[in-house]
Amino acid sequence: MAGRKHSVFFVITAVLLCFALFGSFLFVAVNAAHDCTHNDDCTVCRMIDACIHSARFMIAAATALICALAVITAAAAVSRSETALRPTTLISLRTELRS
Ligand SMILES: [Zn+2]
Repeated sequence: MAGRKHSVFFVITAVLLCFALFGSFLFVAVNAAHDCTHNDDCTVCRMIDACIHSARFMIAAATALICALAVITAAAAVSRSETALRPTTLISLRTELRS
């Protein structure tokens, strides 16, 4: 049950991140031809900068998350393969049951 709650949380988080990333890209794409008449006090330019910074942050966070998941998956695969390679005999099973 806890695993299902975590899965729902991860899916909702992923959807929100994708929505924010897509919204940022869409805003930048729509305003790419922005002809700025205000030098430093332009709301559109500030929003474009904010979108670019948030996109960079989300890409860096996603890269770090993917690397962490790759390490965890590799560690789990190594652990699973070590368990599978251990010889199983009736005596070893009996010994495991007693301990
Ligand atoms: Zn501007």
